[in-house]
Amino acid sequence: MKDCIFCKIAKHQAKADIVFENEQIIAFKDVNPLAPVHILIIPKQHITDLTQAKEKDTNLLGKMIMAAKNIAQENGTDKGGYKLLFRVKKHGGQEVDHIHLHLIGGAPLYEEIRPLKGGGERRG
Ligand code: 5GP
Ligand code: ZN
Repeated sequence: MKDCIFCKIAKHQAKADIVFENEQIIAFKDVNPLAPVHILIIPKQHITDLTQAKEKDTNLLGKMIMAAKNIAQENGTDKGGYKLLFRVKKHGGQEVDHIHLHLIGGAPLYEEIRPLKGGGERRG
């Protein structure tokens, strides 16, 4: 998809710190990490968000989760544990419209999930 930053990373047209790549999937460090380990796992094919995933994408989504598991095992994040997160559309706080799985860990994580009072921005 034109002008999609994650499509550009997938095609090596934009810079990223890549930690894993195969034919279908690429994983790279989040540019603005929320924890010592913060990696984004994406399909190379453009899917806007989870609502746009089709039955035929089931295998691909499973492979993204397994890629996260393997990356966490390789870098030792699995020892303490981690979070996997899909943000979906506005209420989920999704900011990049190319489906991505967050692998977040490397330290105990605090997280509060509650509705925003006014709606709109996240991390406010
Ligand atoms: P979202 O809020 O959509 O779930 O997560 C998007 C994530 O992508 C954010 O954590 C943000 O820091 C990260 N991000 C946005 N643009 C780039 C980029 O160009 N390169 C990298 N490596 N991460 C990005
Ligand atoms: Zn894209």
